[in-house]
Amino acid sequence: MYDLVIKNCLVNDAVTDIAVANGKIAAIGSISDAATETFDASGMAALPPFYNTHTHAAMTLLRSCAEDMELFDWLSNHIWPIEAKLTEEDIYIGTRMATVEMIRSGTVYFNDSYWMPQSGLRAVRESGMRATLGLLYLCNPSGDVPDAARLANEALLEAHNADDVLINVAHAPHAIYTVSEDVLRHIASMMETDGFQCHIHAAETAKEVEDCRKEHNGMTPIEYLDSVGLVNDRTMLAHCVHLTDSDREIIAERGAFIAHNPVSNFETLQRCL
Ligand SMILES: [Zn+2]
Repeated sequence: MYDLVIKNCLVNDAVTDIAVANGKIAAIGSISDAATETFDASGMAALPPFYNTHTHAAMTLLRSCAEDMELFDWLSNHIWPIEAKLTEEDIYIGTRMATVEMIRSGTVYFNDSYWMPQSGLRAVRESGMRATLGLLYLCNPSGDVPDAARLANEALLEAHNADDVLINVAHAPHAIYTVSEDVLRHIASMMETDGFQCHIHAAETAKEVEDCRKEHNGMTPIEYLDSVGLVNDRTMLAHCVHLTDSDREIIAERGAFIAHNPVSNFETLQRCL
């Protein structure tokens, strides 16, 4: 007895049936066994799903409020002032909307970092999707993580069940220009024992590279992150638009990953060509 049998589905150029049991594909072929649920997929094809490796899912709510502008202007003058007013319920609704859109496009997983991640967790659980949710680190001018972010991270860790096979937790320092060196080093030391991944914006704009070289003895953002121990085989580097050959070698040697964001960075790329 299967949980689900998908009938008449195109798989590798042949129309066939797919049986699902305990959340996994149990058989592919002509299936006549009984099933709790049967779905006729005539005219449809089974394809590998999409994985979205860098999201701020609840930002579905902020679409079109500021478009086509330079990153720091967009963040400082438009996005952060609005985000300061978002409630837990807003973030739940925005994430919920994102999960519906992703499911419609065949996306089964997303790697998210956003404010009040415990609200995102609620939406992900209801969606049935896989996700990695970030413990968000953004420092105030004194270099400390504000209490609100600290409490939200504690709420996520408390609500997350480590046995949940669909949902992971990662460290998600926002970027080198919003998180102090002390906090970055602290995250690297926590990663040695907690086994979490790290998800961070890196080398997204020419200004980020320029400022980093000025502040950190000529190092690029990747060299700087590597110097604090945050480029390793559990690190997802988002964007990486402005890399040197040496940066590419460091990323390859450490086994880190890059999340490309072509739509977000298209205008930047045009300026580079
Ligand atoms: Zn981002």
